[in-house]
Amino acid sequence: MTSTIGRALLAVTDRAPVRKLLTDTAAGRRLSHRFVAGESLDQAADVAARLNREGRQVSLDHLGEHVSDRTEALAAKDDYLACLDRISADGLDANISIKLTQLGLGFDDGLATDSLRELAKRAAATGTTVTVDMEESRYTEATIVAYEAVQSELGNLGIAVQAYLYRSRADLDRLIPLGGHIRLCKGAYAEPPDVAYQRKEDVDAAFDRLLRVLMASPQVRPAIATHDDDRIALAIALAAEREEPWEFQMLYGVRRDLQERLIRENHHLRVYVPYGSAWYPYLTRRLAERPANLVFFLRATVGR
Ligand SMILES: Cc1cc2nc3c(=O)[nH]c(=O)nc-3n(C[C@H](O)[C@H](O)[C@H](O)COP(=O)(O)OP(=O)(O)OC[C@H]3O[C@@H](n4cnc5c(N)ncnc54)[C@H](O)[C@@H]3O)c2cc1C
Repeated sequence: MTSTIGRALLAVTDRAPVRKLLTDTAAGRRLSHRFVAGESLDQAADVAARLNREGRQVSLDHLGEHVSDRTEALAAKDDYLACLDRISADGLDANISIKLTQLGLGFDDGLATDSLRELAKRAAATGTTVTVDMEESRYTEATIVAYEAVQSELGNLGIAVQAYLYRSRADLDRLIPLGGHIRLCKGAYAEPPDVAYQRKEDVDAAFDRLLRVLMASPQVRPAIATHDDDRIALAIALAAEREEPWEFQMLYGVRRDLQERLIRENHHLRVYVPYGSAWYPYLTRRLAERPANLVFFLRATVGR
């Protein structure tokens, strides 16, 4: 969910000089290392192994989105196949999270669906699952259509649902009967008022409504993806009435104190671990969620 300051920040980080400042300075790279495991699969596998040793499951995200040609889209699929093979070879307790625009959604939806199917098959052979991230609202319908096609065939997928979208309650009615895991998040993009709630309290209320629906749905494994104390407290309260498995999900580098507390309290926690060279758009979304992150960066860059 993006505040007014966050929206302004997303617009500013789109400008070339700001991008250069964040990508070409040591302070910018340090900031990225807080949220991104590294540029290589080796670095991501090391971070995943460490998190596993600390009792956390992992979802590996090979960063990238909005690719514009077939060659790039197929290369992204190959990167994910390599990631699944690495999960298997290293015995990691991990799955993968993917963005369908990285696999061709937007210019060839059929290609993206075929690649999703291939990844789901490889994940099944590896004994793991694939989560489909949810991107900007112009891709929501196509993402769900691709998900429905592959999930009804193979069954080892999950998908993210964004609480800020008005459509999400109806989307749950389509998604829940398909089983799998459903990741409930607030939503990270700047969306217009005709498709999404704008005020934090409205997004939080929508999140809680969807959370209640998911926790009362035995067919799915709810994945509660938030760092918000009040939403987390409600999830724990609702879980008292639930016998089937569910989990928390949090982002690598965010609210590490809270992550440790939930582990100590024996909750299932999966950490979303991004890696790869295309980290800039991901970083800007993390900055927009908490503009104070940028203040720390600017202090470090200009020497306060
Ligand atoms: C595992 C996971 C997967 C996600 N997948 C998607 C997806 O597929 N599509 C999508 O649109 N969004 C996704 N998101 C992002 C999500 O939509 C929110 O933008 C993000 O999680 C921040 O919202 P929040 O629920 O933590 O609540 P907020 O109210 O934004 O934050 C609650 C508290 O968490 C802390 N916090 C939150 N963000 C940060 C940060 N960046 N840096 C430091 N502290 C922070 C702050 O203390 C804040 O007060 C995902 C989030 C998670 C955890």
